[in-house]
Parts: sequence; C-alpha cells; structure tokens
Amino acid sequence: MKYVSTRGSAPILSFEQVLLAGLARDGGLYVPESWPKFTRAEIRALRGLPYADVAFRVMQPFVGGIAEPEFRAMVERTYAAFGHASIAPMKQLDRNVFLTELFHGPTLAFKDYALQLVGRLFDHMLAKKGERVTIIGATSGDTGSAAIEALKDRERVEVFIFHPYQRVSEVQRRQMTTVESANVHNIALQGTFDDCQDMVKLLFADEGLRARYNFSAVNSINWARIMAQIVYYFTSALALGAPDRRIAFAVPTGNFGNVFSGYCALRMGLPIERFVVATNANDILARFLESGRMETGAVVPTLSPSMDIQVSSNFERLLFEHYRRNGTSVAKAMEKFRRTGSIDFGRARWQAMRKLFTGYRLGDNATKDTIARVWRETGELIDPHTAIGVAAAREAELDADVAVIAMATAHPAKFPQAVEEATGVRPELPPRLARLLTKPERCTVLANDPKAVKDFLDARLAARQAA
Ligand SMILES: *Cc1c(COP(=O)(O)O)cnc(C)c1O
Repeated sequence: MKYVSTRGSAPILSFEQVLLAGLARDGGLYVPESWPKFTRAEIRALRGLPYADVAFRVMQPFVGGIAEPEFRAMVERTYAAFGHASIAPMKQLDRNVFLTELFHGPTLAFKDYALQLVGRLFDHMLAKKGERVTIIGATSGDTGSAAIEALKDRERVEVFIFHPYQRVSEVQRRQMTTVESANVHNIALQGTFDDCQDMVKLLFADEGLRARYNFSAVNSINWARIMAQIVYYFTSALALGAPDRRIAFAVPTGNFGNVFSGYCALRMGLPIERFVVATNANDILARFLESGRMETGAVVPTLSPSMDIQVSSNFERLLFEHYRRNGTSVAKAMEKFRRTGSIDFGRARWQAMRKLFTGYRLGDNATKDTIARVWRETGELIDPHTAIGVAAAREAELDADVAVIAMATAHPAKFPQAVEEATGVRPELPPRLARLLTKPERCTVLANDPKAVKDFLDARLAARQAA
C-alpha cells in the first residue's frame, strides 16, 4: 500500500515511511492510496476470532515492508499486555445501546490501542534503518501518558513530554512521572498547555537541533494510529451480528481521529448506518454538521479535557474523500480556513456528510446527569468522555432496529472527581495500577524559556549518549 497526502503535492510514501513522517511536506495528512475491501463473507469469517487475529487481518492490507509473521507477532505481543482478555469488551446499557470499553490498555484510555502498536512499529523501523529518534510531544493529559507507556524502554527512542505544570490531574501526571525508564523525560513547563505546544513547535523549527537529535512525533495525525483504531469497529460490530445487523456508532470526539477510523472500517466494507460525532462545549464539528459552516471558537475547559479541541485535524482526511481525492482543492479550502477561521465546503458536500455523520453536543451538567443515570440504571460507572458518547447514542434518532455502540474512551478512575460528584461513588483504579498513587515521581520543572529547555535537552541527551 502507498500513501498520498490530502493536499496532493507531497511525495507518495510507503507504509514504513509514513510511520515516521508525521505531517506531509505540503502540510497535508497521509491517507492510503486506495481502500482495501472486505466482502461480506470475509467479514463474517472474522466473527469469533480473538482480537489480535482480527487486528492482524484488518491491518495487514495497509502494512508493507514488514514480513507477515513478524507483523503478526508484533500485533499479538501488543494486545497480550492488555488488562482484559477480550481487549475491547462490550456491555449492553439498554435495549439498543451498547458500550465498547476501550480502556483496558496500560494508561486506561483508548489511545493505548494504537500507540502500543505504534511503539513496536517504531522500534522495528528504526532497527532496520539503524537510526535513533527523539520524540517530542506536548500533552494536556492522556496523549502524553499513552505515548510514554508505548515508548518506554524502546531501544532507539528518547521521549520528551511537556505538560503544563500543576495543570493536569494527579492520575494523569503520575501516569507519566512514575515511569522508571531511562529514555523517558518528563518536563513540567511553567505555563499552559498552549505554551507546551508552542515550545514543541519552536523545538521542531530549530533545524540544527532537529537534525542533530532526529526529532519525530507520535501525534494523532499519524496514519498508523488511525489504522490500529479501525480494528475495534470491526470487533464491536461483529459481536452484535454485523454485517447482518444494522449498526451505528457514537464516538466522543476531539481531533476526529477515532471516528475517522470508524469511517475507514466502513470504506473497507463494514456496513455502518451512521456515526454520531459527540462533542462537549467545544462543538465545532457539531455546529458544522448542523449549519454547513465550519467556524473556530475559543477553547473552553470542560469535564472531558481530552475533547477540548477546536480544530479537529483529522477532519481533513474526510474532506479529502468528499473532494473526490483532489488534493489541490483540499489545500485551497484548508488555506482559506486557516486564514479566516471559517469555511463553507459547499452544500452538496455538507449534505453528503450529513447522510453519514450527525453532530451532538453535551454540556458539563448534562454530562454529570448522564453519568448518574447510567449508574442508576445499570450499575456501571462511566467517565465524562464516555458519558457524552452514551448520551449521543441514546438520543440518536435512528430506526428501532439499529444497535448503537458508544465508544468508552477512558476508564472512570481516570476522572474520579467528576464521577464521584455525579454518583457519590469514587471509581477505583484497576488493581494493576494500584501502586500508581504511591510510586516515586520523576519530572523536571522548567521555566517557559526556550534557552532553559534547549539546555535541558542537550544535557539529557548527552548523558544518555554517554551511558
Ligand atoms: C483523545 C481522546 C478523545 C478524542 O479522540 P479523537 O481521536 O481526538 O477524536 C476522546 N476521549 C478520550 C478519553 C481521549 O483520550
């Protein structure tokens, strides 16, 4: 499989190149040149297989340059380390509303499902090329811990994660700072999440530094992350009887990565009636689907911080399909959006998107009400991100025979305060994470000053090279 940029003018790359590339050189995102197709019979044949088997079969067409047995072993090792034998188990909440739990990875959020595999893929690629990379990232919580867990102890990787000092929750901070690996470097920057992002951009823009340390990123625009997330759309739909049963998904959405993976499953042949794009008060996507106009706003903090995003970068991948894969037109549209903060993609495109995607928005109070209601009705504790998906699933106006699957993107114990406020019950961490709250932390507090940060990087990397 080859990969093309959504903006049409970057080099066409192989899977292995796309893995390390991140953003395309023309500012676009990489997508597969064509969609591999599964027939209904091939989809039925996946029923009842272990998660890792489905994962191998679903991802294999996208992967080139890695021998099949090697890729299969990588996939098996990845999911063998998860905390639930079914990997992505499901629960029924109501007659037609189901939940897929995507929080059985090491950091209790759905990002593990992709990043745990991406970490292994990185190691494989770097060993083959005889290279080392330095991963630099900013996090408001979830991504940083998932990246650290995926990259810790990887031989050819150093990882530097910036989080805003005293502005992430205790569980989130400890998930990053209690990792004991020598290749993991936590920085608490004295500033906001935006300051962290700006610092990362500034480091990437320093050509000398970037070349010396071979900087790379594992952000949500990485194609391999989208690819690995396709798998649980298949396993979830299959478990309920697809392709012989009507299925829809409700997905708590920030960067549009998770829901776009569902769209990929559809393009591969899995019948899906509808996607409900569930947002919090940061509702740019819900507003767009209602009005046809995409307009940025200021980011407001909510109970579901991993969805506090105003520009959903992966949406560009969907646009590319709706512009009939014409990269030049996508580039023009994105340029206009960047310049003016507002865009209309044309009525026909908007209506075509609305045939498949519905927007949904839930405020913080209603989020707590949903957590309380699910607890009352089912005895399940759900986290605020998941609650937005569940409310969206309940209120999706679909035919009575459509089963709606809400994606549970985080474990309730990751956001214990909101859950306790809604239910009076404090969710407990799974036993395998029980030591989290007492383990020693490793983290360096730095001023929001480029010189201080660069000196720290130089010192750390020199020490690591000497070791
Ligand atoms: C990252 C994240 C999301 C948003 O996912 P996208 O792929 O960015 O749309 C939702 N919920 C949780 C818990 C997350 O960590």
